[in-house]
Amino acid sequence: MVKETWVIQPGSLPLWVHPVFRRDIREIAGCADTIYEYANEHEIHPYADSEIFKDAVKIIHDHGLRVIVSVGTGGRFSAINPSTWHFSHPETWFRLPPDMANTTDHYFRRREVSCVNNPKFLKYTKQFYSDLFDNYDVDGVGFDEPREIPCVCKYCQRKFEELNHRKMSGRGDEENLRFQAESLAEYVAMISDMAKQKGVFSASVTYLQPKEAYFHKLLAEIRSLDYFGIDPYWMFNKPVTFVAEMTKEAREICDKNNKLLWVVIQNFHVPSGREVEIYEAGRLAAENGADVLCGFTYWRGTQNPELTWNTTHKMLIDFGPKRRSRKK
Ligand SMILES: [Zn+2]
Repeated sequence: MVKETWVIQPGSLPLWVHPVFRRDIREIAGCADTIYEYANEHEIHPYADSEIFKDAVKIIHDHGLRVIVSVGTGGRFSAINPSTWHFSHPETWFRLPPDMANTTDHYFRRREVSCVNNPKFLKYTKQFYSDLFDNYDVDGVGFDEPREIPCVCKYCQRKFEELNHRKMSGRGDEENLRFQAESLAEYVAMISDMAKQKGVFSASVTYLQPKEAYFHKLLAEIRSLDYFGIDPYWMFNKPVTFVAEMTKEAREICDKNNKLLWVVIQNFHVPSGREVEIYEAGRLAAENGADVLCGFTYWRGTQNPELTWNTTHKMLIDFGPKRRSRKK
């Protein structure tokens, strides 16, 4: 049975301070209990002496909602609202193995991404999240589509040698990817543990690609992680029944690891005439074991944003706890 309903708001938190967005938040409060916000590193600090982020969090809380913040620290998470620290710190970027120079994987072809084994990046991460949890009343922290990237930087080489008592192959092979999956899981766990110590919950979301199964296993095993999420974006190339398939697969992972299952229902790039599938996807996720149903506010590439949002709103009410509580 669905216990919670969330809505992803693709930034910017300070917008909530504006009167027009206060109207939006009232509408969201009618169908959801949590806002999951993509934020960048700048939003979550004061603008000069103006505490916009603090005000935004207060406004969300005043409407009876919880707030989760997802930040694309180091370029490691695909949160849409970009972070920038890593752009000005190229010395922390990962180094792609030379044999992968012509890789067609767009995720590996990026350059401006900090390596999770880089000490400077780790120091920055700790400081950033420590400031966030100490100074702002957020309820949760999110990890948006973390994915391992092969790396042969000197810090990865050193760590690999310490662990395995031999040198790295220097290639983008299976062994490198496993090592990176383990390093990334440690990185996520570090932030998630910090959150737990401060009474803040944490949530990951990934698309369950078979080639990343090892990382997903490690992710689900992180003890301090509360929600294990999936985003079965069926409209790109699959029938809506795919939502049921991925939900079932994730349910098993969650049961094994004592996690709450969060299912993100697609709301962007929705072609005209297919809005009804949002409702169907919500039903399939609910029937197959989602603990949390989640929609987006209307967004890019969607042909009928109004209808898309209205369908999402109805889906969250009909399959979430709001309707049950209304019936009482
Ligand atoms: Zn590295």
